[in-house]
Amino acid sequence: SLSDRLTGALKDLRGKGKLSDADIDRTCREIRLALLDADVSLQVVRGFIARIKERAKGSEVSGALNPAQQIVKIVNEELIAVLGGETRRIAYAKTPPTVIMLAGLQGAGKTTLAGKLAAWLIKQGHTPILVACDLQRPGAVDQLKVVGERAGTPVFAPHPGTSVGGEGVLGVSAADPIGVARDGIEHARARQHDVVIVDTAGRLGIDAELMAQAKGIRDAVSPDEVLFVVDAMIGQDAVTTAEAFAEGVDFTGVVLTKLDGDARGGAALSVREITGRPIMFASSGEKLEDFDVFHPDRMASRILGMGDVLSLIEQAEEHWDAEQAEAAAAKITQGELTLEDFLEQMLMIRKMGPIGNLLGMLPGAGQMKDALAQVDDKQLDRVQAIIRGMTPAERDNPKIINASRRLRIANGSGVSVSEVNQLVDRFFEARKMMAQMSGRMGMPGGNRRSN
Ligand code: GDP
Ligand code: MG
Repeated sequence: SLSDRLTGALKDLRGKGKLSDADIDRTCREIRLALLDADVSLQVVRGFIARIKERAKGSEVSGALNPAQQIVKIVNEELIAVLGGETRRIAYAKTPPTVIMLAGLQGAGKTTLAGKLAAWLIKQGHTPILVACDLQRPGAVDQLKVVGERAGTPVFAPHPGTSVGGEGVLGVSAADPIGVARDGIEHARARQHDVVIVDTAGRLGIDAELMAQAKGIRDAVSPDEVLFVVDAMIGQDAVTTAEAFAEGVDFTGVVLTKLDGDARGGAALSVREITGRPIMFASSGEKLEDFDVFHPDRMASRILGMGDVLSLIEQAEEHWDAEQAEAAAAKITQGELTLEDFLEQMLMIRKMGPIGNLLGMLPGAGQMKDALAQVDDKQLDRVQAIIRGMTPAERDNPKIINASRRLRIANGSGVSVSEVNQLVDRFFEARKMMAQMSGRMGMPGGNRRSN
C-alpha cells in the first residue's frame, strides 16, 4: 500500500546522522514511485516531489530533529497541504434552508451519504430532510426512504402515499427530477427544515444526459453546496470523473467514500489538487456512523502510516532546547560531558514522554539513547536521585567521586553504594562511547548534511 511504501522509503533514512543530496534524491524517487503506484496523478506527483526536494535540500534545519525526521516532517506537511490544509466546513445559508446537492457516478455512495450526512446534521441540532431526485434507477427512491428512516429524517419523494412520515406530493411526474427537487425545497421551507439534502441520479460512466440533468437540478434549487461524491477506490478515474463533474455541475466540495476499502489513497491526493475543491467529508463504511468531517492532517498521517513518529516529532520540537543541546553536543564530542549535563539531557529527553517511546526515535541527542537503552523510567528516577545527591563539584568532575563520596551519595539519595558505583561506571563508559560515536555521526544542531 501507499503507506507501506512511503514508510519503507523513509525508514531507510533512520539512524542516518547526515543526509547527502544523493540520499534525498533516492528517497524522493522512492516516494515518487510509491505515489504513482497509488494512482496519484503524474501532475500532482511532480509538484509534490519538487516541493519536498526543494525543502529537504534547503536550509530548513531544526535542532530537535535528525535529518530523517526532518524529511518525514516535510513530507507530512506537504501531504497535508495537498489534501487541503484546513478542514472546510459547510457554508450554511443565511436564510434557511441550506441546500446541499449530491452529485457523482452511480455506486459512488451518494444515497448512503445522504443518510450519514443527515444523521450527522441531526446530532448538531439541525432538522434535515432528504429529497429523492434519483428517478433513474429502479428502487433508488425506496433505498433513500430506508436510509432516511435509519437516519431518523423525513424523505421527500415523488410518489404520493409511499414516502416516509406521510410526506409526498401530487402532480409531479416521476420522470421529472428537476420538478421534484424544486418542490422538495418548497416543502422543506414550509415545514421549516433547515437543511435539504438532494440525492441525485448517477450513471456508471460520465454521460451528457446525466450531466444535463444534474445541472438542471442545480439551477432549479441554487444549492449552497454541491458535493461531488467519489469512490476513493477508483484511483486515476477519480481525477477524470472529478474534472467532468467540475465542468458539468461545478461542485463546491468533495466527499471521499469507501475509504475503509481504499488500499491506495491516491484519489484523495489527486482530486483536491486537480479540481481545487476541498475534500469536506469522508465515508468509511456502510453504517451511518462510518462518517466524519475530512481532516487533511489525519489523512496525511494515515497515508504516511507514521502516526506515532509524527507525534514524537511534534513532542521533540516542543521540548527541545537547541542551545542546551548544542552545548552538550560540543562537550560530548570532546569527551567532557559532566554528570550535570547528563542529568539535564536526561530531563529534557524525559519531558518528551516515556523513555520506551523514544528509543530508536531520539532526535539530536541520539547518542544518549544507547546509554539510556538499558534503563526504564523507574530506574531513571533513581539515576536522577543519585545525581541530585552529588555536589556540583562531583557532577562537574565525576573523577573525584571516591569511595567515601560514593557512600555519602548513596546514603543521601537512599540507594546502595553499588548502585552509585554502577551509575558512575556507566557514565564513564557512555561518555567514551558517545565521544566516539559523535565523531562518526555528526552532532545535533550542527551541519548535518554532507557536501
Ligand atoms: P449511489 O449510487 O451513489 O447512491 O451509491 P449508494 O449510496 O447506493 O452506494 C453504493 C454501494 O456502496 C452500496 O452498496 C453502499 O452500501 C456502498 N457504500 C457506500 N458508501 C460506502 C463506504 O463508505 N464504504 C463501503 N464499504 N461501502 C459503501
Ligand atoms: Mg443513489
